[in-house]
Amino acid sequence: MVYRVYNFNPGPATLPLTVLQEAQKELLDYRGLGMSVMEISHRSREFEEIVNSAEALMLELLGLSSEEYQVLFLQGGASLQFAMVPLNFLPPGATADYIITGSFAKKASQEAEMLGKVHVAASTKDNNFRSIPSQDDIKLSESPAYIHLTSNNTIYGTQWQYIPDCGEVPLIADMSSDILSRELEMNRFFLVYAGAQKNLGPAGVTVVIIKKSLLDQASKNIPAILSYKAHAEAHSLYNTPSSFSVYILRLVLNWVKEKGGLKAVEELNNRKAALIYNVIDNSGGFYQGHAVREDRSAMNVTFRLPDDNREKAFAEEAAREGLIGLKGHRSVGGIRASIYNAMPLEGVEALANFMKEFLNRKG
Ligand SMILES: *Cc1c(COP(=O)(O)O)cnc(C)c1O
Repeated sequence: MVYRVYNFNPGPATLPLTVLQEAQKELLDYRGLGMSVMEISHRSREFEEIVNSAEALMLELLGLSSEEYQVLFLQGGASLQFAMVPLNFLPPGATADYIITGSFAKKASQEAEMLGKVHVAASTKDNNFRSIPSQDDIKLSESPAYIHLTSNNTIYGTQWQYIPDCGEVPLIADMSSDILSRELEMNRFFLVYAGAQKNLGPAGVTVVIIKKSLLDQASKNIPAILSYKAHAEAHSLYNTPSSFSVYILRLVLNWVKEKGGLKAVEELNNRKAALIYNVIDNSGGFYQGHAVREDRSAMNVTFRLPDDNREKAFAEEAAREGLIGLKGHRSVGGIRASIYNAMPLEGVEALANFMKEFLNRKG
């Protein structure tokens, strides 16, 4: 058996073992070509097949039609999308509405501010991002070009449990840390983007899913490399893509499909999250969750211990037992367990048992 730890890092994050094994198996000779997938032309038939099937699988898993939506495989991470969204969809004089639920949401809005007017439609900064705004908390500007939200807040451990009603205004979401983790009415979104390194595959590829009716409205007066239109017209091959990352992404999509699609994945994710939240809730206050209960994330579980010493000991002792990457982000402190799709139930069970055992010893 290969040595594998349970990796709770927030991203890059753990990948399904079977995906890694499959990539390993065909690494030196990709399907009889005598070359690895990294060495073939991105214009080859073989690579085109990878892009096409990844695109089709993505739409199938999300329940979207290729008539209405196009999938793009870009680079630059979610952070480039923070800039590309306003570059393409915030015309001069217009206002974009942002809902601020954490650091990444804030960064996205700051990039838009460089390019145009931003209205903060809601923010939960005042409670240190423990919650998600309710529909009533959201105050839109007069006629926003679009509304932007972050579906899962990787650092704070909160997750939207509903899709806000935005009327006719295009809703755009950063889904970097929860895409493909649950069933959602995806057709309520006009544009969704996600850096792959949390829930989809390795770093280096960013997935964009865009409604074709929105694509038609994209700005034409921007450099091609930053233009959704240019990437869409070239079918994600405007320039050399991050080909190996796209290849692994395709394997991950196959894996999600084999697991039973989003319904099955969501059920398992909820079971996993409940295991940890139950320990927190039954710890007599020893473990304190950061997020309010209603808005807890099924992807990133954030919590504190009574003091810094025990937090440090927790992360160190867990690591010795093969549970790694549990230290929280510096802006929240404490512990964060990132339990994306690829984290197996056994890993979460091991963590929950460790938490109980640690509480018995140090509580
Ligand atoms: C990780 C993360 C980002 C940043 O992604 P990069 O690919 O590093 O640019 C943005 N938004 C969310 C929600 C994230 O979790």
